[in-house]
Amino acid sequence: MSKTAVVTGGAGFLGSHLTDRLLAEGYRVISIDNFITGSRANIEHLTTDARFEFIEQDVTKYLNVPGDVDVIFHFASPASPIDYLEIPIQTLKVGSLGTHNTLGLARAKKARFLIASTSECYGDPLVHPQTEEYWGNVNPIGPRGCYDEAKRFAEAITMAYHRYHKLDTHIVRIFNTYGPRMRLRDGRVVPAFIGQALKGQPITIFGEGKQTRSFCYCSDLIDGIFKLSLSDFHEPVNIGNPTELTIKEFAERIIRLTGSPSQLTYEALPIDDPKQRRPDISRAKKLLGWEPKVDLETGLKLTIEYFKTRV
Ligand code: UDP
Repeated sequence: MSKTAVVTGGAGFLGSHLTDRLLAEGYRVISIDNFITGSRANIEHLTTDARFEFIEQDVTKYLNVPGDVDVIFHFASPASPIDYLEIPIQTLKVGSLGTHNTLGLARAKKARFLIASTSECYGDPLVHPQTEEYWGNVNPIGPRGCYDEAKRFAEAITMAYHRYHKLDTHIVRIFNTYGPRMRLRDGRVVPAFIGQALKGQPITIFGEGKQTRSFCYCSDLIDGIFKLSLSDFHEPVNIGNPTELTIKEFAERIIRLTGSPSQLTYEALPIDDPKQRRPDISRAKKLLGWEPKVDLETGLKLTIEYFKTRV
């Protein structure tokens, strides 16, 4: 009998890649999404697979699925700063009520549980690179607060279910990740810059472009998450690629790789935009024997090919 996994946010960028990996590992997958930011196109290739089942549902509402479940991956959440501005209440609800419901389902099914948390738990970090021991520098009432605080609450309630109900839980702190199936217009820097470059439009750098990010290709991230789900470790684990560059360097890289005539243009820096971000991945290396394999150049080429078919 194959094992059954539930993936919330299963039609999203990462949820759909995780579903592909779970099916490849021999799991049955029940995918749940309400398409608030997910897309049917991300799971279209799975609809003929008998081991794949899809339920259209908002996980902030009471949640149940038929039969036994071995593991639940809670990936449902808006994940782009412009989503937080447009749908702040849904963002707060899916991180809080949605996490409570999925933990309740895990408890009822005696299933393992893994929550997709985020480097945003560190806010605008004063410790660099970010280790899991760092408690963060988050503005609870700023425009990103709805996401950051929902995810911090999600981590807190996950640890409470682990400690009080003895649930087998895992927390991954996901750093900037990119790849095929991101939404072209989701506002995050990778689809924004690639879309602009492919259309020959100005590349919109926010602020002076001195802020740093470290970008992880999706297959590397999913590999780390899958390994974490099988571990016996319950505290947060950073998964990301530590190769750090400034946003200006990143824009120049995209222009070179696309061969675009686009020029750089400068816009206001969003409120609370973190000045630096790079994961310390020592914990993941030691615990899971994991580290990223896909370098930025290779991953970006694959991502650019994907977006060429969509602009
Ligand atoms: N950014 C930018 N231009 C854009 C979109 C984003 O300069 O068109 C910057 C943004 O200000 C941030 C970085 O790129 O410093 C990464 O932004 P993203 O929205 O991808 O996610 P974040 O890492 O801030 O959560």
